[in-house]
Amino acid sequence: MRIRRLSESTINRIAAGEVVERPASVVKELVENAIDAGASTIAVAFRGGGKTLIRVVDDGFGIERGDMALAIERHATSKLSDDDLIDIRSLGFRGEALPSIGSVSRMTIASRAKGALEAFILGVEGGSVSQTAPAALARGTEIEVRDLFFAVPARLKFLKAERSETTEAADVVRRLALAHPAIGFSFASEERVLIDVPAAQGFEARIAKLLGGDFVANARALSASREDVGIEGYAGLPTFSQAQAARQFAFVNGRPVRDKLIAGAIRGAYADLMPRGRFPSVILMLTCRPDRVDVNVHPAKAEVRFRDSGMVRGLIVSAIREALAAGTPKADATLARAAAQSFRPWPPQPAGFEEKQAAFMMDMPPLAPAAAFEMPDASHPLGAARAQLHNAYIVAQSPDGMILVDQHAAHERLVYERLKQERQGRGIATQPLLVPEVVDVDPVARERLDAARGMLAEAGVVLEAFGDGAVLVREFPAALAGGSISAIVCDLADELAEPEQGTGVEERINHVLATMACHHSVRAGRSLRPDEMNALLREMEATPNSGQCNHGRPTFIELKLPDIERLFGRR
Ligand code: ADP
Ligand code: MG
Repeated sequence: MRIRRLSESTINRIAAGEVVERPASVVKELVENAIDAGASTIAVAFRGGGKTLIRVVDDGFGIERGDMALAIERHATSKLSDDDLIDIRSLGFRGEALPSIGSVSRMTIASRAKGALEAFILGVEGGSVSQTAPAALARGTEIEVRDLFFAVPARLKFLKAERSETTEAADVVRRLALAHPAIGFSFASEERVLIDVPAAQGFEARIAKLLGGDFVANARALSASREDVGIEGYAGLPTFSQAQAARQFAFVNGRPVRDKLIAGAIRGAYADLMPRGRFPSVILMLTCRPDRVDVNVHPAKAEVRFRDSGMVRGLIVSAIREALAAGTPKADATLARAAAQSFRPWPPQPAGFEEKQAAFMMDMPPLAPAAAFEMPDASHPLGAARAQLHNAYIVAQSPDGMILVDQHAAHERLVYERLKQERQGRGIATQPLLVPEVVDVDPVARERLDAARGMLAEAGVVLEAFGDGAVLVREFPAALAGGSISAIVCDLADELAEPEQGTGVEERINHVLATMACHHSVRAGRSLRPDEMNALLREMEATPNSGQCNHGRPTFIELKLPDIERLFGRR
């Protein structure tokens, strides 16, 4: 066969393969166009999972009559003034979406340019364009896409069930709506309105409407900048986590992105706050000069490339870490509600109840003398310890409620943060052992420990191989005084056996510290004196990230007085 040039419509269909993967991509391109057109409200209607109809109506500045035909021509755009790909300020710029969509569907574009007396409409069917004709439209642009992929039936087979296509399209609108709180958005599938947010909404109100009030209640606001990259948003509490990354939203200059660099930075920021396999809730809005980021990496523009990616990663990690560590620990509001709901109302009192209750009270250990407990003080957010239950939980009275602390989880976090802090300062304070402790381990573990000597020494554990099946421990972190050295060393040997998963030395050392802290802190089952309990509460208030243990479990929950009143039907 001879070489020949492909026809325009074939070229468009090939491009459509990249730009228009599924109905959600059509929605994304059309809504982005409406945002670029300065719209203040954008309405999306969706039918048959997007295969029957996708309609996007906006009140933006519209398209001039003379530009209508150009809008559906390939590589025709009004958004690049002088072929400058460095200074991109709009969401679109490739001039590909409309011709691509028009090549695989039946599309009409009706528009009335700002200040124009008339509106015009133009149709494209499988790539063939109709004449521009007058139409009735008060303002803005209305684009209808019917029978998507009718011209490329093979693609229809790759579409998922209508419901998933609808969910995915709604998610696209949700992300764009999060990034643009000034614009009103709606999304209706068949007759069901899935999204409806008014124009000129504040950021926080927008988040609450789109993601539920829980999000902000369980997150800390963050704000930071470095050089000329700025970042705003929310970092979810580590305990407010999910099994999927579905609640992570990242935007670069108002453009929703799913970016490996950003996802990796989020993972790094939560590395030792979160159990494996759980994902934090995060909203990150990055802003920077357009020339600092390349958005032209992928036809769907979902990935970006930062000029200085190391700096951006560092900025994200420190912004999240600072937000989480700032102020006093915040209890997970959703957990408190779940806790309140798990209390059953007291059943009708059976006969003999009072006697039983009296007998039960007699069995209770005597309470510590009241004088030994401090009075609750508003300056102590975690309140004053009132009692210890089952040698495992501390009950404290806070200024406006009660706090229940898991003493083991809390202590584990405190020890870990103390070790980390020492290491960042003058190094971990160690205690030389007068009689070095011999720890029996199997030969493989001995090798492993020996090979990791340098790293362990940095974590405060100074040891050396000793015979075939043992190591000799010479120094141990002072913060772990009283702990079982041999148990901790065996734990470390197990830990070292795990594949490294490409984590850096820093993360490995933190992991060693976390392992030691966890093992050391087997404090459940130990009875605490009131002053010890209060000291623990005070230290939690002063320690960053003390709201969750090293595995991401909460260390305390708080029931506010209104929660308690609700339990008793007083509200
Ligand atoms: P791009 O967005 O990359 O420029 P598109 O194919 O999506 O390419 O759109 C082509 C052109 O059509 C845009 O540059 C813009 O001028 C015009 N256009 C598309 N949608 C709208 C709209 N909703 N309002 C105003 N103009 C629009
Ligand atoms: Mg576009």
